[in-house]
Amino acid sequence: MPKLDLHTHSDRSDGTSAPAQIVQEALRREVSVLALTDHDTASGCDEAAQAAQAAGLPFVCGVEISTRQDDHLHILGLGIDPHAQAMAKALDFAFEQRTERVRITVKQLAEAGVDITFDAVNERVRGSISRAHVADYLKSRGLAQTRQDAFRKFLVPGRPGYVHGTGLDVCAAIAAIKNSGGMAVIAHPGMVFSILDLPAWKTAGLDGLEAFYPAHTVTMTGKLLALADKYGLAVTAGSDYHGPDSGRENTVGMTLSEREFANMRAVLKKWNI
Ligand SMILES: [Zn+2]
Ligand SMILES: [Zn+2]
Repeated sequence: MPKLDLHTHSDRSDGTSAPAQIVQEALRREVSVLALTDHDTASGCDEAAQAAQAAGLPFVCGVEISTRQDDHLHILGLGIDPHAQAMAKALDFAFEQRTERVRITVKQLAEAGVDITFDAVNERVRGSISRAHVADYLKSRGLAQTRQDAFRKFLVPGRPGYVHGTGLDVCAAIAAIKNSGGMAVIAHPGMVFSILDLPAWKTAGLDGLEAFYPAHTVTMTGKLLALADKYGLAVTAGSDYHGPDSGRENTVGMTLSEREFANMRAVLKKWNI
């Protein structure tokens, strides 16, 4: 059965592996197509692309853009030119917003009595700063068992470190991806199923839905395939791999049936794969 993965994270955002290590892991797991999609940064793409080219693994440069609508409403940009001006501008804006969100998070936690500073959190960042870095810091200070535990105790709505998301608008994220030569896909749509506005986003240029995702039930995948069909959207598959010790179990690679893989051919053809 063919395997591919169009959604992975490296240590350039909140993953734990270097971009080239993800390529090695993908090869080990016999993944036939790989995309790197770090949160609001494409800074790992060159390293991953070089490693993939050396190993003969088809590779797609990508990004996962956070939106201000919801903490889980993320847009994958697949096949982008990471150096395109439209993408650089969007990612600069996202970087400012992320930094500001973490600054306020740290301030709120300090006010609640937690011994934490922005610099101590920022020391761990290799690319795109995120709340996961705050969670890792809390874990390192013995205030949580795991990253997920830190989120539950400190960073979700109702807890002292929660700050509402401040990313791009959905349509602005789609526009930045399209203007950088990429394909815009809703990441893990099952997690935001109740707020999907496909007619509006299709008009804004949306290309696809990540119908195949580890947390989606068979029923959810079926609903998403039907919606993709209704709105003329492509479907993609991604594991959301974050590396070892990230607190997530997912491995690199989504196994598809021959028919599902064949349906994805049109997507892959865009990148001559
Ligand atoms: Zn996501
Ligand atoms: Zn992701």
